[in-house]
Amino acid sequence: MSRTEKLAALVCTAGLDRLARLSWRGLLIFNYHRIGRPDEFDDPDLFSATVDDLDTQVALLADRFEIVAAGAADLRDPRPSRRIALTVDDGYADELLAAQVFAAHGVVGSFFVTTGFVDHPRHAWWDEIAYLSRGVPTEGLAPSEWLPEGLDPAGRSADDVRRLVNGAYKKRAGARGEEFLDWLAGATGRERPDAGEAGKRWMSWDDVRGLRRAGMEVGGHTVTHPILSTLDADAQRVEVGDSVRRLREELDEDVDTFAYPVGASDSFDDATRTALREAGVRRAYSFCGGLNGRRGTDPFDVRRVGVFGESATVIRATAALPAIFGAPRRYA
Ligand SMILES: [Zn+2]
Repeated sequence: MSRTEKLAALVCTAGLDRLARLSWRGLLIFNYHRIGRPDEFDDPDLFSATVDDLDTQVALLADRFEIVAAGAADLRDPRPSRRIALTVDDGYADELLAAQVFAAHGVVGSFFVTTGFVDHPRHAWWDEIAYLSRGVPTEGLAPSEWLPEGLDPAGRSADDVRRLVNGAYKKRAGARGEEFLDWLAGATGRERPDAGEAGKRWMSWDDVRGLRRAGMEVGGHTVTHPILSTLDADAQRVEVGDSVRRLREELDEDVDTFAYPVGASDSFDDATRTALREAGVRRAYSFCGGLNGRRGTDPFDVRRVGVFGESATVIRATAALPAIFGAPRRYA
């Protein structure tokens, strides 16, 4: 059991979380990614919960808190209140299961869709890295421009190897993601996964329209899911502007919310903010942990807390004490 799990169990013992939750006011936003369990073509780090886990979590949150829609919620609600919102990033088809769970509990979730994957389904770079990095040979990877120190898998778990390669991509690939993946395929002797198989991984436009029909919110998440701050201003303008434009076309309504891919504090910059303003976006979500609603919440840095397979006990403890449990656990 992790330290977080132990501490959470302590807080929830004897219902202490019910008392502790009175300690905060504001808007706490949870962020989910994939629903279900990974196969060999999936990055396991992206999986937030099974359907049953999510159902348990939404039930316990709805029982204790007011659940609001993230995009419609007033960031500076004057009432003394504790509000929770639920968001889901990326646009994988399995995330439609989250919408079903939310609807069953009568709550509105917000879904951020990577429009390029809907228009031209293909494997996401992190999923390709997950598949290819399983092929890292025992003698390791030689130093290269992508991994200047090389990579020695000795004494490292498969998860560590994958995260090292993923970290190198985030740091150095920038607009040259395809080159990086071609290099990794060559270095590991694995073939890049067949893009023809990727169609069923992502929502279709009908699915996205179905989310709206079910009362969910939909916002932008770029076209190709790059780390925006690694791109120049023009490329950022295309990623932000085209993603909300495609959503507006397909949904035939305004779309004015956005979630930053990866969402760390250094994943977006001033050029991103300019691109958002130009595209008519009024609210953008990061992924750095923390709570909203104190005076001065930045509408282009609305805070979210990631969920990555934690137990219901940790979710309970996070909702009770976001200052302690709401720090970033991982980025995706
Ligand atoms: Zn994402």
